Amino acid sequence: MQKTAVLMDGKALAAEVRQALEPRIARVRAALGRPPGLAVVLIGDDPASAVYVRNKERSAQKLGMASQVARLPASASREEALRAIQSLNEDPAIDGIIVQWPFPPQLDELEIFGAVAPEKDVDGFNPATMGRLLAGRPRYVPCTPLGIMTLLRRFEVPLQGAEATVIGRSNIVGKPMALELLRAHATVTWCHSRTRDLAVHARRADVLVVAAGKAGLVTGGMVKPGACVIDVGINQTDQGLVGDVEFESASRVAGWITPVPGGVGPMTVAMLMQNTVLAAERRAGLEPPEAR
Ligand code: NAP
Repeated sequence: MQKTAVLMDGKALAAEVRQALEPRIARVRAALGRPPGLAVVLIGDDPASAVYVRNKERSAQKLGMASQVARLPASASREEALRAIQSLNEDPAIDGIIVQWPFPPQLDELEIFGAVAPEKDVDGFNPATMGRLLAGRPRYVPCTPLGIMTLLRRFEVPLQGAEATVIGRSNIVGKPMALELLRAHATVTWCHSRTRDLAVHARRADVLVVAAGKAGLVTGGMVKPGACVIDVGINQTDQGLVGDVEFESASRVAGWITPVPGGVGPMTVAMLMQNTVLAAERRAGLEPPEAR
């Protein structure tokens, strides 16, 4: 009989995460006299960004958190963007601020992310926050890698001493992902578009995280039998929404695998809620259940 991988259901785990946040939100409300507050800065009119922002807003509202979106036109100047962020930094009802990526080319990524107050930087993209992650003492871990670590821990995937390969080296996914795996004592290999033989590095991995944005990049033949395969990719194709991993062939070889959709995506949104609640708890001087 052919073995198939354990499906890592991110949608179900995200629902559990949200449920665990409810009493924490109630505690914040009692301490501060208001719910945790999340603000999203949306610059320009990228349709995918609009969908992501709507999902985040809805998720916050369902939990009884306050959420607001500051919309700026695609032509927004540096000064306008910085002013919008500064006013949210100073807003006492806002605990977490994110600036939806990507933003228009006239805006400098590091300057814009760097303008978010570190204590409100729930996406973890401020260079100061990234520096703390690099130093092994993160204030906030970026939501996608944090969601993946939560999945790995829930499914008890062994990490200590494991071979982990991360495909992708973006600041928002690949880099923080590799650092988190390193912090969990995996031996990490980092791959990108110039990697000479991707299959060799993929096949060695006990944990394979694929975040390249290329449909079908990883096939079953590139997966070590019994490995854990985390598919971060989101690609719109004629066949609908697919990841970076050829699910059909990979799930026959892997020990665990995330689906797309329903794997990493819902966990990312749940982690944004969790980081925002954590920011509000810190503001209120409350001890979070497990201090990270
Ligand atoms: P990105 O900024 O475009 O980075 C892609 C990375 O993949 C780059 O480091 C690139 O290498 C590498 N890469 C591209 N083609 C490759 C190839 N053929 N072989 C090996 N490496 C290759 O993308 P991102 O923001 O990290 O996002 C990656 C994917 O995850 C996208 O599909 C995105 O939509 C998705 N995503 C999903 C979630 C979620 O919650 N599920 C969250 C964020 C992103 P170079 O550095 O050499 O160019």
